[in-house]
Amino acid sequence: MARRGCAAYIVPMTQTLPAVFFGHGSPMNALERNRYTEAWRTFGESIPRPRAILMVSAHWLRDGTRVTATAKPRTIYDFNGFPPELSAVRYDAPGAPEVAREVADRVGATPDTSWGLDHGTWSVLVHAFPKADVPVLQLSLDAKKSFAEHLELGARLAPLREKGILLAASGNVVHNLYRMNWQQPDAAFDWARQFDEEARRLMTTAPADVVKLAGHADYHLSVPTPEHFLPLLYIAGVAKAAGRPAEVLVDGYAMGSLSMTAYTVP
Ligand code: ZN
Repeated sequence: MARRGCAAYIVPMTQTLPAVFFGHGSPMNALERNRYTEAWRTFGESIPRPRAILMVSAHWLRDGTRVTATAKPRTIYDFNGFPPELSAVRYDAPGAPEVAREVADRVGATPDTSWGLDHGTWSVLVHAFPKADVPVLQLSLDAKKSFAEHLELGARLAPLREKGILLAASGNVVHNLYRMNWQQPDAAFDWARQFDEEARRLMTTAPADVVKLAGHADYHLSVPTPEHFLPLLYIAGVAKAAGRPAEVLVDGYAMGSLSMTAYTVP
């Protein structure tokens, strides 16, 4: 609090924000209310208001690490075959070019004005920050980086938590669209459960070891392509930098072959 007549006593709040990994699942979660979307909403309501949100989305896989740097990011509808209501959703959060410069300086990311907010970002933020009044930036996934390099990049971003930036990531620990079984909306195949449970064990005890999941017996079924798994490595990197394990925000399964597990680093 400022003391009257003496501006030197104005001290900026230096509260460390948590970091969060969302298991986003189907884009339809943007329109639905279920126990996952409620957990995302409760998370958003429970933390101090961020200066900005930096989101690592599964749906922005590029050659190189980029950070969105537009003042008014567009809502991107990067999916097919969903009802028109989903393409009517807008998430008109502002961007924050000055925060993009901070991020670019810290990790050598390239400022980008071509991308906006893809559904990996807005399908969860419509619940976690429904007013869309906190600036949002996205960080791309560099397709050429190794798991260890993604995790290390997450660790390098970690100090931004002390500068009012919410480090967020959106993907799915288990994500196999080829094996989905619509008859099991809330169930998991054994291999999906085994992989997700091992990921949970590591995230909640030794987060830096999640890179070892690439050697798990169920890795290739659970992670047939890496983009939905990679965002988890950023939050594991934050946990590593913080010297503490992650906590489960909500867990569960969808259609046999999707894990909806979400994590926070308090
Ligand atoms: Zn996705």
